[in-house]
Amino acid sequence: MSYAAFYQRSIDEPEAFWAEQARLIDWERTPTQILDESRPPFTRWFTDGRTNLCHNAVDRHLRERGDQPALIHVSTETGREERYSFTQLHEQVQRTAAMLLALGVGRGDRVLVYMPMIPEAVFTMLACARIGAIHSVVFGGFASVSLASRIEDAMPRLVVSADAGSRGGKVIPYKPLLDEALRLSAHQPDAVLLVDRQLAPMERVPGRDHAWETLAERHAGAQVPCEWLDSGEISYTMYTSGTTGRPKGVQRDVGGYAVALAASMKHIFQGAPGETYFCTSDIGWVVGHSYIVYGPLIAGMATILYEGLPIRPDAGIWWQLVEKYRVNVMFSAPTAVRVLKKHDIEHMKRHDLGSLRALFLAGEPLDEPTARWINEALGVPVIDNYWQTETGWPILTLAHGVERQPAKFGSPGLPMYGWRVKILDQATGEELTEPNKKGVVAIELPTPPGFMQTIWRDDERFVRTYWQGIPGRTVYSTFDWGIRDEDGYYFILGRTDDVINVAGHRLGTREIEESVSSHPAVAEVAVVGVADAVKGQVAMAFVVPREAAVLEDEAARLRLEGDIMKTVDTQLGALARPARVRFVGALPKTRSGKLLRRAIQAVCEGRDPGDLSTIEDPTALEQIKGR
Ligand code: ATP
Ligand code: MG
Repeated sequence: MSYAAFYQRSIDEPEAFWAEQARLIDWERTPTQILDESRPPFTRWFTDGRTNLCHNAVDRHLRERGDQPALIHVSTETGREERYSFTQLHEQVQRTAAMLLALGVGRGDRVLVYMPMIPEAVFTMLACARIGAIHSVVFGGFASVSLASRIEDAMPRLVVSADAGSRGGKVIPYKPLLDEALRLSAHQPDAVLLVDRQLAPMERVPGRDHAWETLAERHAGAQVPCEWLDSGEISYTMYTSGTTGRPKGVQRDVGGYAVALAASMKHIFQGAPGETYFCTSDIGWVVGHSYIVYGPLIAGMATILYEGLPIRPDAGIWWQLVEKYRVNVMFSAPTAVRVLKKHDIEHMKRHDLGSLRALFLAGEPLDEPTARWINEALGVPVIDNYWQTETGWPILTLAHGVERQPAKFGSPGLPMYGWRVKILDQATGEELTEPNKKGVVAIELPTPPGFMQTIWRDDERFVRTYWQGIPGRTVYSTFDWGIRDEDGYYFILGRTDDVINVAGHRLGTREIEESVSSHPAVAEVAVVGVADAVKGQVAMAFVVPREAAVLEDEAARLRLEGDIMKTVDTQLGALARPARVRFVGALPKTRSGKLLRRAIQAVCEGRDPGDLSTIEDPTALEQIKGR
């Protein structure tokens, strides 16, 4: 079947199409109700089915491939390197499940995971799935304020963490950040479970904090069966970068997600059971959830969990792992490739990469020079794919039968099966059917399996945020601009909202602004993302100081710049730190008082700021230019 026919069937006969895909996983009760559209825009899949993600990722493979590798952990930070077969993973996950149960965690309870890239993090996620607890993984690079807001929203019964992470050989203590977050948070978990990697000293709070090692010893050999869950129960929540204030807890189901991942492993990533998958993302992002943990394991593949930088001990490390573990499918981000590109190509070429069939890249626009460079270096297809935390798996890429068609540089490809992708005029909601017309990339109902169920505890916000932005239509807005060319290929042109993408990490301008303005010397601030050759974007902060005298005093400006950077470091993490802080007397605003971020950004990047008819004080923009 051609891809076009395959896609069309998913659109014309969604129930038949997805009922077929549902056979890729095990069900305790096979669904007979495939699609429930009774409460738009909430789409429910496989409603009367019962299954379990952990069963599909682990138990199901025991008989046929119990001895084959399931989880391969490599840390170039600590030198730890371990392999777990499916049987060993099954043991570890059951033991962890017994530990969670002993700490009072049950079905529907939340478990917040704030952990580095170590096997215990994966055991915890799978153990939650096993007993029907809801995990909420928070990226380890976040500091206490970001962590606190997520703890307050998720209201976990348990927090699982570790003494420290490590980056580039530098130990980053987690426990003090967690303690500070818990001090700030109105919600308190019943218990905290701590892995001691012996990287940093840890203070333990008696009665609340438990040692992983002690509990693990107590529960060695435990047998904990999978809890069969309704398809529509919640598997996890995870937070977006929170551009618009309070972070949105993207909530996902069990059955739809399992089917979506199994289908994507078959039709998009095309990995076979017994093969090896290497995704270089972090478990704190959606890519890590879908394609480090659940997707590859559901497909019966070994998955590599890598802690470390791509260039340490040298830029050959990933390719050394590809050779050593015979990696078949790899998934990374353009920013990582840009880092590698600064190093000698021989680092890649000296390794035997013969096992590798494809490299998938996602997370940000893949520019042509980067795509060409990595394509030449590897000699395998480099496949761009476009999606979001909300969608759970790719919306646009190349798949099933079209893999050998030429990819178009700069385009992530075609709509994937199940996704009804439209380009809409943002002002009128009208569909732009003619090729090469720029509009908002939107998705029509019904959304396919794997798509978010709602925003955690906030259906109303889900509807308002995603489904009411385009006049006259109930469509999901991706908040990205795009065009479709005459061959049906899509191109993503940027965001309709304000998020900064620093080296592949999403940071909300709003979150950084809030942090900067918490400094007592700051009166007002605007943060914008400015193009950067290496990191994609960096944050620039324009600050109106409380004391105008600062503007005239270079030493004071330098001191305050350093101070503000430190504030952001401790509140949000070093990733969010503005590359530069500049001081101005006023910020450009509209007459209605809204910051003209887009204009500031344009000026910083040397572009025309566009229509300024609504600006209140044009001299404010002149000041930005002067800085
Ligand atoms: P928030 O929703 O909180 O503002 P975010 O949108 O930055 O956060 P993600 O869901 O991780 O968080 O990122 C999805 C976005 O990343 C897409 O909407 C798009 O802007 C960008 N993106 C992802 N993949 C690609 C790609 N292949 N090409 C171009 N842009 C991409
Ligand atoms: Mg987004």
